[in-house]
Amino acid sequence: MSMKLLFATANPGKLREMQEICKALGREYGMDLSLSPLSEKVDIPETGGTYEENALIKAQWAWEHYGLDCLADDSGLEVDALGGAPGIYTARYCDRNFASGMDKLLHELHSLGADSPQSRRAAFKCCICLIIGGKPLYFHGSCTGTVSSARCGSGGFGFDPVFIPDQTPGRCMAELDEEYKNSISHRG
Ligand code: IMP
Repeated sequence: MSMKLLFATANPGKLREMQEICKALGREYGMDLSLSPLSEKVDIPETGGTYEENALIKAQWAWEHYGLDCLADDSGLEVDALGGAPGIYTARYCDRNFASGMDKLLHELHSLGADSPQSRRAAFKCCICLIIGGKPLYFHGSCTGTVSSARCGSGGFGFDPVFIPDQTPGRCMAELDEEYKNSISHRG
């Protein structure tokens, strides 16, 4: 059996990860599951107030423009000491400039006196909206951990260099092998 899905994203890091996740899922279920990007580069406005609403907006855009089964991911980093911010606004927190976004986050936590690992609890959250035959289905994932004191590692994308998952004490997400990240991540 084979299944093709369109992935509504303008984020190359997400696309790469989701293609790997789908390939692995396909292998697990004995099917050929492939994911292709949109054929145009569009930044679909994320005007929703929740991950679900934003994931639906993006998936629906792809469904309406291409009429193909598709999915979209909306995700973010929720930091306890910041009352759950930046959350759904993570991409906008740094205007998609991840390096300056990470520095801003480290600086904000330090100025609040949140320097111990216990005071830097955080979680990556993700909602995936899958539209099959026009019907939306939702999937939720989260990955808990702490914000590191400095950037480390060069793998992954986004805020991976400042997030230490609970499963890998002392190691940031950007230091993990991609297959392992996908096995524990909010998106995986
Ligand atoms: P959006 O889903 O397009 O709103 O973007 C979510 C933002 O959250 C990304 O641009 C990243 O900054 C961050 N993010 C989401 N997932 C991950 C991840 O797996 N690693 C690192 N950063 C992530």
